Amino acid sequence: MKKYYFDYAAGTPLDPRVEKAMKPYWSEKFGNPGALHWFGQEASAAVFRARDTIAKALGCNYREIIFTSSATESNNLALRGVIKNFKILRFQDCKIENDKKNNFAISNLQLAIKPKIIVSAIEHDSILETARDLERKGVEVIYLPVDKNGMVDLKKLKESLDERTILVSVMYANNEVGTIEPIFEIAKIISDFKKGKGESQKSKGKFDNLYPLPPTSYPLFHTDAVQAFNYLNCNVNDLGVDLMTLSAQKIYGPKGVGLLYVKGLGFRVKGLENQNKKNNLYPNPYTLYPLITGGSQQEYGLRGGTENVPAIAGFGKAVELVEQSRQKENKRLRKLQEYFLAKMKKIAPDAKLNGSPIGSNRISNNLNFYFLPDRGSGLGSAQDLMIKLDLAGFAVSPGAACTARTCRPSHVLKALGYSDERATGSLRFTFGRPTTKTEVDKLLKVIYNLLLK
Ligand code: PLP
Repeated sequence: MKKYYFDYAAGTPLDPRVEKAMKPYWSEKFGNPGALHWFGQEASAAVFRARDTIAKALGCNYREIIFTSSATESNNLALRGVIKNFKILRFQDCKIENDKKNNFAISNLQLAIKPKIIVSAIEHDSILETARDLERKGVEVIYLPVDKNGMVDLKKLKESLDERTILVSVMYANNEVGTIEPIFEIAKIISDFKKGKGESQKSKGKFDNLYPLPPTSYPLFHTDAVQAFNYLNCNVNDLGVDLMTLSAQKIYGPKGVGLLYVKGLGFRVKGLENQNKKNNLYPNPYTLYPLITGGSQQEYGLRGGTENVPAIAGFGKAVELVEQSRQKENKRLRKLQEYFLAKMKKIAPDAKLNGSPIGSNRISNNLNFYFLPDRGSGLGSAQDLMIKLDLAGFAVSPGAACTARTCRPSHVLKALGYSDERATGSLRFTFGRPTTKTEVDKLLKVIYNLLLK
């Protein structure tokens, strides 16, 4: 039986051009990029080339990219790394050069201050679970609500920012309903807040002593752009972000590699050199502290472990290919998305679209529908429909967090204000490069037949 795939938000196939770019680094050019000899340098050059290609695509410096094993690791590094750094710089043997000049002495008051982070309620679990874990460890976490389309509440963001806020993390595009968050506006709100903070510090005549760094360094802004990169501008300067997560496996690259963009990484910051030397960090990881230690030469000391050279080479190629085809592919998928929705309205008039209407607030490859449990069709739920589609050869994703045994209502659909029934009874359809109109027609036909039965 021929199989049809409509779950590109979960994973994309490896592009053959990416596979070709990776091939030499499995065995022919197998050197350890940390080694000084020819074999090592050959591998190191491949890592550098990928870093440079990706940096150009993101509009940043190659020194501002850390390769990781996955987007999950990047998100963990962003949240935990920033908090850890903040705590270590503040609470431990913090002797930065600015100490005496700016009166950064540690006091009981400082120790009592609880760092705070703000995340949206519809983040991927790799952010939410990490935030919850940090909460258990004494960090205050604000979960920003979203409206019925999935857009974060900017008013609540403004109200939540205060001098204890160290990090804001809001995803660029949501993985379940495809909502595009207003990253530029969020960056502007944060930057205005920092400016205000700077002004009030100036009027006091010196920095207050709550911070290891000048107080205007915080809050940092992180975005998880895993679902966005295929379709949206991810230039970090246009977006105004300090940290950004990407994953190769969502952009037709290999599994096992992700990255974290870190603004200013690898550049010297006056006053922090001694601190970095002591911690064996190179030369300015001022925003982050490593989660994986053990290789000070790797990723600026922020991520130990020999680099995954074939995967990184593939990541570079995958990014290059997205850059070449992004606009065209976006347009093509938008048409397919509109077509699919129009047809669904006819064949399944009771199915309700979850999230933003099609348009500038929704990425072009995503549609998510709630299927009423009983249309006299014999279909108990969206899960039944999903299983029947699977048996017919069509792979789609349940909107809820389903395993073989249980189904939890989707936290994203719940945050959009939907009932438990709707948050468990929805299906996500996501398109990708190989998706054609013929395939979509086949899917529509099967849905129609299943709903009629
Ligand atoms: N962030 C988002 C928005 C995602 O959609 C995913 C995966 O679906 C991840 C992070 C985690 O990616 P990975 O499983 O590759 O670590």
